[in-house]
Amino acid sequence: MRLHCEVEVVSRRLPALGLRSRGRAVRAVLSLCQREPRGGPPRAGLLVATLRDKRGTRYELKENIEQFFTKFVDEGRATVRLKEPPVDIYLSKANSSSLKGFLSAVRLAHRGCKVETSLSTLTPVKTSEFEKFKTKMVITSKKDYPLSKNFPYSLEHLQTSYCGLVRVDMRMLCLKNLRKLDLSHNHIKKLPATVGDLIHLQELNLNDNHLESFSVALCQSTLQKSLRSLDLSKNKIKALPVQFCQLRELTDLKLDDNELIRFPFKIGQLTNLRFLSAARNKLPFLPSEFKNLSLEYLDLFGNTFEQPEVLPVIMLQTPLTLLESSARTILYNRIPYSSHIIPFHLCRDLDTAKTCVCGRFCLSCFIQGTSTMNLHSVAHTVVLVDNMGGTEAPVISYFCSLACYVNSCDMLK
Ligand SMILES: [Zn+2]
Repeated sequence: MRLHCEVEVVSRRLPALGLRSRGRAVRAVLSLCQREPRGGPPRAGLLVATLRDKRGTRYELKENIEQFFTKFVDEGRATVRLKEPPVDIYLSKANSSSLKGFLSAVRLAHRGCKVETSLSTLTPVKTSEFEKFKTKMVITSKKDYPLSKNFPYSLEHLQTSYCGLVRVDMRMLCLKNLRKLDLSHNHIKKLPATVGDLIHLQELNLNDNHLESFSVALCQSTLQKSLRSLDLSKNKIKALPVQFCQLRELTDLKLDDNELIRFPFKIGQLTNLRFLSAARNKLPFLPSEFKNLSLEYLDLFGNTFEQPEVLPVIMLQTPLTLLESSARTILYNRIPYSSHIIPFHLCRDLDTAKTCVCGRFCLSCFIQGTSTMNLHSVAHTVVLVDNMGGTEAPVISYFCSLACYVNSCDMLK
């Protein structure tokens, strides 16, 4: 039984000697092995072989494990603490299911049980075994695309462009170490929600595909914590869900050449965003939260920006309807809601409530005003919005009451 992963063996005596470990994990092949001492029963051991030390270092297993640390086993990490020698063996970047299987075999060996799987012999590990540790793979034509062979699980950077893919290959979604996934120039129509299980994914490139949406499930996945760069240019996306603004780590967002008719109106929540391009879409105006962005680069060239209306659209009602009044209260007091508690369509209404300049919310009772903003107020470098040399764009704002509208009339001028 073998396990491919990264290993760092740290002696617990180091701190007592005033030393610290180097903190560097190396690629290794771990095997369970068996030795038969003369006249004694066979003894199971753990063999850690690295590229430098192919014969490996052997550790006794029977009744020699002080503790297992398996909290992060689903992420392919675990630690085995041995009694003698007093070392901690840190395992990382392993395939989580292989790791689980390996650890239970190690546990059995510790208890002195017979390990069912055949124990590896003490032959040195071949150099070819270490080639499975590839971290980068670039495929740019259909003929190079692996059909029968799996992708090496250790991949951190995978590019498969011009491969004619119509969907995301499920085998890619098992690559838990992926940081960069480039699926540009394919024919992908839909992203599976399981893309959100790639917990380390920082860069996702989907340039030039057939995507029509970016799902709410993806916006609410672990991508919230990891995703920094997203390229959705040259697709067929009409709108992004309001939850998109929960991808707070985003710094680079490319939306050029889509069919966007609006930005998610909470876009101002993307406080880390530095690079935003949405050229050649169908944006008629920007949401007022756009003013909260702080960008280095902004490109909104070639959109169908409309001239701001002179007169505001007034949708006020007095007294407020029961729905409007309760929705405002729920949102203002941040009372949690979900489709388990209230009907789905009410959740959707609450999710898309408009924010007034005063910070309160409104559903269907509001004043809508348009103004223009100079894009230089939110970005250092601004690509001109049209061939006329303009850097101004229309912004739509909502007001929850007449008072709020009157107070901000100056802003609208
Ligand atoms: Zn207000």
